[in-house]
Amino acid sequence: MKTFSIHKRAEALLDTQPEHFIEHAITEFVRTSPANRLDSFGGEPIFEKPLVGFADGDDPLFHEYKRVVHESYLLPREILGLHLDEKPRSQAPDLESVSVISCVFPINRETLKANAREKEGPSLRWNHTRWKGQDLIKELSLHLVSILETMGVCAVAPELSPFFKIHLLPAGFASNWSERHAAYAAGLGTFSLNDGFITAKGLAMRCASVVTNLKLKPSVRPYANHQANCLFYATGKCGQCINRCPGGAISEKGHDKLKCFAVLFEKQKPWMEGAHGQGYIGKYAGCGLCQSGVPCSRRIPVKEGDRQ
Ligand code: SF4
Ligand code: SF4
Repeated sequence: MKTFSIHKRAEALLDTQPEHFIEHAITEFVRTSPANRLDSFGGEPIFEKPLVGFADGDDPLFHEYKRVVHESYLLPREILGLHLDEKPRSQAPDLESVSVISCVFPINRETLKANAREKEGPSLRWNHTRWKGQDLIKELSLHLVSILETMGVCAVAPELSPFFKIHLLPAGFASNWSERHAAYAAGLGTFSLNDGFITAKGLAMRCASVVTNLKLKPSVRPYANHQANCLFYATGKCGQCINRCPGGAISEKGHDKLKCFAVLFEKQKPWMEGAHGQGYIGKYAGCGLCQSGVPCSRRIPVKEGDRQ
């Protein structure tokens, strides 16, 4: 009986204040989940309080991504369609609206401090954050899909779906969905010289998204252009991430993905073999040096008056 009434209350909240309901569900999951813990570091949280934003899935910006990300980039409506084709329902779902829910997970400030002290490869804390953080994000995404579906709403986490694809290109990789581009559409930040994404909590973060047929009010995009939060693009100054990279993968021209991969998979391979201490986990050590020890690590470094 109690479960029934909680469910009814949740349904009512989803009907009347869906954005608030979703933001609360995400924040509470991150705050309370045992998966958001660095077990090797006293159980400290992997991520601090998340940021949540919403985009209209039919926003023309997503069409633009087919040009700037890759021609295979899937529109939110296409993703939901593929998902529904895989999981047919007895009743045709209402597809009048399609929305994108985007979440940003800021990395714990102590982890940032530890990585800022490093010069050649990641700290152990950063490495654990990379891989255990990914597990938490997967759990959160599936949790969000599950609670929406329980309430009769269609939802899919694109990067966890079977139709998510990564293409190998001469200049690196491109995928048919991008969490950072979803976050940009949802008003959560802008792109940076080092190919990161600077949010109100900085660029040391991970992000995830869920596409749904729930109608959600799109968040405001509070920036003048897609690079406004990066000091280099906004003022021509900074470039501190260039000096942080141990592989010369960042220059005033931007981020060279192939050089970056050479650092991740070759130069930092000894980190996985104990060169910087024991306990490193995952497929590679993780780096992140250009996200730590820079002015945009934990905040937007651009003053309002500096913006273009
Ligand atoms: S360190 Fe400076 S140039 Fe590099 S991404 Fe951050 S703000 Fe931009
Ligand atoms: S992740 Fe590491 S290797 Fe890649 S650009 Fe940043 S500092 Fe360079």
